[in-house]
Formats: sequence, C-alpha cells, structure tokens
Amino acid sequence: MATTVDNPEAEVPLKPTTESPILSIDLSNETPEQRSKREKECKLCEDWKEEIIQNNPMVKTLLGAMNRAGCNFEKKHFRCVPCNNSGSGGFSSEEGIILCQNHFRSRPHMEETVVHELIHAFDYCKYNVDLTNLKHHACTEVRAASLSGDCKWMREFLRGKFNIKKQHQECVRRRAILSVRYNPYCQDEGQAIDAVNSVFDSCYQDTTPFAEDHK
Ligand SMILES: [Zn+2]
Repeated sequence: MATTVDNPEAEVPLKPTTESPILSIDLSNETPEQRSKREKECKLCEDWKEEIIQNNPMVKTLLGAMNRAGCNFEKKHFRCVPCNNSGSGGFSSEEGIILCQNHFRSRPHMEETVVHELIHAFDYCKYNVDLTNLKHHACTEVRAASLSGDCKWMREFLRGKFNIKKQHQECVRRRAILSVRYNPYCQDEGQAIDAVNSVFDSCYQDTTPFAEDHK
C-alpha cells in the first residue's frame, strides 16, 4: 500500500528529539491577511481545546488516568500552533501535544486528534514508551488509531455489510504503519510493516484505560 508525504491523514512525525519541523514556519514575511487568518485559527483552536478538555468523556478519562499514574498533564501541555506539513497533531515528551490549528476540518476532527495524541501521552506516561524503538512506537499507534475513532467512519460505513471487526483492524493497521513510517528512526516501509505486525495483536487488545468493549 502506498504511503506518501502528501497523505492528508498523515500524522505529524513523533519526534524523539526536541527539534520540531512543525514549528519552523517563518512568520517574518507574513502579510496582514495571513496574520489575521493565523490569529483567527489560533483563537478557534484555543476555544475548541477548552471545550474538548472540559467535556469530551474520553479526554477526561485519559487525563484522570494520567493524573492517577503521577503524570500531571493539563491544559498548558496542549499547544495550538500553525503547522507547515499535512498532519493534524503530534506528541513528543519534550513538546507535549501539538495541535495544528490550520489543519482542522471541524471540531469532531480536532476531538479525534486530541484523543489520538492523548493516548500517546498516556502510553508515554504509563509504559515509558521509547519513541526511538519502532515496536514501542507501533504499539502506541495501534492503540491510538483503534481507540480514538480514527477508523470509526469505516465501521459506520460498513455496518452490516462485511466483517466489521476485520475491516476495523485493517484500517488500524494501515494507519499505524503510516505513522511509524514517518518516525525518523524508520528506514523504509518494510520496517514499519514489520514493527506494526509484530505487536499488533497484543496492542490492539489493550484498551487501557477504557473499558474492554470500547472499540
Ligand atoms: Zn499517532
């Protein structure tokens, strides 16, 4: 299957280091129109962020579980920023959760992104995920894609038509491979496929901190 850098669903690469290409937008040549657009996007992202953190049940569950595990993760760890690639968000231990304010199609899209990235943050907190290890990265991507609703559209679209569980699994697998492919420690697609396949079954089954039947 093809993975390209243009894929609109691709995730901002999880950088194990502090260098982040998504923050490298040069604002010095910004026109007044561009500035006004950026400020509007930032305001909307901040407003939605506030509401999502307050109201989204999955976000509340994840934040509660992280606090109980001793990781204080709060509003200031979510940052709305303009991004210059096609992803909608990212997580790194240094930067927390990055929300790409210029790439959200809708509030539900942003909610899914927040949940997806928060599952990475939870895994980092709870399981000491080492993002330079492709199997670790693959596991947290499988969980994030499976639990965040990234593949929900497919479940709904196919309801009653095919073997839904199989389709959901294949969607999760495909998205996890795509994200691992962007890890700077991943050399080619074969490595990403191997990493995801080697951890898929156990990580797909692990629905912590949600109830068993969440998917
Ligand atoms: Zn991810």
